[in-house]
Amino acid sequence: MRLFDTMTQQIELFEPVSGNEVKLYVCGVTPYDTAHLGHAFTFASFDILIRLMRSKGWKVTFVENVTDIDDPLFAKAEQLGNISWEELAQQETDRFVREMQSIQVTMPDHFVRASEELPAMFELIAKLLQNGHAYISDGWIYFSVKSDPNYAALAAAAGLNGYDNLLNTANENGNNGGDPRKRDPLDFLLWRGSSEGDPAEWDSPWGKGRPGWHIECSAMATKYLGPQIDIHGGGCDLIFPHHSSEIAQTENATGQRPYVRFWMHIGMVALDGQKMSKSLGNLVIVGKLLERYTPNAVRIELARHHYREPWEFFYDEMDDSQRIANMIDRAVNGHAPTNHLKFTDKTVAYRRQFMAALEEDLNTPEAVALLQMFTEELLRGDLSEDDAAAAQRAIRETSALLGLQ
Ligand SMILES: [Zn+2]
Repeated sequence: MRLFDTMTQQIELFEPVSGNEVKLYVCGVTPYDTAHLGHAFTFASFDILIRLMRSKGWKVTFVENVTDIDDPLFAKAEQLGNISWEELAQQETDRFVREMQSIQVTMPDHFVRASEELPAMFELIAKLLQNGHAYISDGWIYFSVKSDPNYAALAAAAGLNGYDNLLNTANENGNNGGDPRKRDPLDFLLWRGSSEGDPAEWDSPWGKGRPGWHIECSAMATKYLGPQIDIHGGGCDLIFPHHSSEIAQTENATGQRPYVRFWMHIGMVALDGQKMSKSLGNLVIVGKLLERYTPNAVRIELARHHYREPWEFFYDEMDDSQRIANMIDRAVNGHAPTNHLKFTDKTVAYRRQFMAALEEDLNTPEAVALLQMFTEELLRGDLSEDDAAAAQRAIRETSALLGLQ
């Protein structure tokens, strides 16, 4: 199969390097509020990738994290007043899992929480201090971006260049450019020293405090998958500073390059002309959608958009996705299951086309179009009796790859 790599900006052949094993890490949510359709798009896209790879006999180890050490979580718990951040994180993680399961998203093999993985973070930070890529200032620890000439190569590949642009983007994403402890405003936090009123602090070899955001993912990825992984994914808003910083700290701590063979980034979903985000409040919530539409319709709606493309949600299109989902349900449930049946030439040709679409950088819009066309052909009664019986099985199996049930 072929996949687009953010680092090379090209669609390239993807094959497992060791045997048939694929190591996949996807950045998960900060559990402080409801998941929205943008999250669903990210995890449904990786779900299809995983289903496709497993259907090829590859053994995928999928690690996803929960960023339960994060300022927005602590702020939300404080704002609510009657709940601890631990309880809020647990409650919102449970809700996220329920919502993803409600639309048949494959759960990770390791679903890891930052708050339980501090020793792995200490190990990486200690190495970076030892080899001069990190420094301690007033009890806080920073990665020195000037120590790595390749810092932000991923950002540059994706078109974000120039110190000022990088700094602005970092500052919009949690970096404190005015922090006087830093040597360079772009240096990013590895360990935040003890601060008055901080709701969450842990003991570390460098005193009390808590980890920075980026080191959490490097530690969890390398602990569960090793120093080099096949695919690292997340929303495209994570390219910088999060993933660029992950590369710098991981490669400099482990000495092994590249940390990641393929970077996969998912496009943003918009509503009312703007990127869906908690801060703007323009959210489509999966749970709410399921009050009006079936899980299969939601999966069709997501799969109709290529994972790299930004897109806007419209209820008209969602209605159309429900229509397609109903048609597929009718086709699959219209005959008794016929698993033993041999595929006919016609169904073999359809399956080949469908698989070819997915194997070319996960072209789900084309896969949905093929599935829809073939289903219509069956329902119109255009197929011979043999073809029709085999078509039902082919439709069931190919739609399962898209997460339909
Ligand atoms: Zn991450």
